[in-house]
Amino acid sequence: MLCRVFGWTPGQAASQTEIYIRSMMAVAVIGAAVHVIFLCLFAALGVHPLAVLNVFSVAAYVAVFFLVRKRPLLMEWVMGAEICLHGIAAVYLIGWESGFHFYIMLIVPIAFVSGGVSERGAMWARWVWGVGSGVLYIALDASVRHAMPAYPLASAVVGGLRAFNLVSTFAILGGLAAVYRVLLLQAESVLRFQACTDPLTQLQNRRSVLDVVQHEAAALSRMGRPLTVILADVDHFKLVNDRHGHQAGDAVLQAVAAVCTTTVRQMDHVARWGGEEFLVVLPATDLPEALLVAERLRAQVAAQVCQSAKGPIPVTLTLGVAQMRQGESVDQLISRADQALYQGKQAGRNRVVSSGGEANSP
Ligand code: GH3
Ligand code: MG
Ligand code: MG
Repeated sequence: MLCRVFGWTPGQAASQTEIYIRSMMAVAVIGAAVHVIFLCLFAALGVHPLAVLNVFSVAAYVAVFFLVRKRPLLMEWVMGAEICLHGIAAVYLIGWESGFHFYIMLIVPIAFVSGGVSERGAMWARWVWGVGSGVLYIALDASVRHAMPAYPLASAVVGGLRAFNLVSTFAILGGLAAVYRVLLLQAESVLRFQACTDPLTQLQNRRSVLDVVQHEAAALSRMGRPLTVILADVDHFKLVNDRHGHQAGDAVLQAVAAVCTTTVRQMDHVARWGGEEFLVVLPATDLPEALLVAERLRAQVAAQVCQSAKGPIPVTLTLGVAQMRQGESVDQLISRADQALYQGKQAGRNRVVSSGGEANSP
């Protein structure tokens, strides 16, 4: 039910803004409910100005619920104003000991962190709220702490309110910290994905695949299992760009990337090594098996027909294959695959060449 109210689909990853919006919606629902209770309580205790103020507080949290998606900046102003007004009125009317001023402190993390997360809060507004709430709290502390409240309540009631407000303040701080942590972890994982991924083909990039090969090489050599790499380069790709345009060239690279990923096993790795070069890493695969994979890649790319506005684009690959030798470094392994690839280019392209082996023409 609550999921439906917040527009939340369980099991679906939410964006940063969505997490922020849903958290604020939850705050609005809880805020409105708590202020309904305060409204009844202060009406029953005869503190009528505070009961009336709580009507406005409930309205403010209802507004927060509906403003958070469309007018987040206005929503933050409404929430900040409610917290300040309620804090000031409560400590003047029923005394400092009631602890309603604690909530004013929450404005500092809300102003600085939420504004930053939602990226819609203006910097000056953050400073106004952050510094303003501190100044307000200190001014209240100086003027109200020892003042006689307008509506003195029984000490048990004041003590109960203070305990509730203290616990609530810590609970809200904990909730804010938890939400900020989730947002931070999510931002970190997005950045990590972007740092490892080629934006055009969505394949791993060179840096990322180098880490993978290093890791696989160490693990496989411990188990005495082979590791083979294929370096594939699109033939005459410069001509594709020149004849069909850069955009068509990009589409060809995406098509080749798709063929590579769908042709290899799940445990294999495909990366964009450079401009029109792809590196395929085949763990637990020896040279004869890898040559079969390379030939399959070559044949599938050659059979695929890419189209541009200027007509069909013939695409072929030349592939160099090398199996890791005992004591060899990853750089040396890839360099041998590159030499084999170079031999394939020299031999006429559209072929598979194994390091130290013969060109395998179609
Ligand atoms: P060869 O058969 O010898 O490999 O010839 P080639 O034309 O494929 O090789 P060359 O190195 O001369 O040209 C590669 C071209 O790839 C040049 C460069 O502009 C283009 N290129 C590199 N990255 C991209 C890219 O992301 N998109 C597009 N459209 N072109 C790219
Ligand atoms: Mg090329
Ligand atoms: Mg090249």
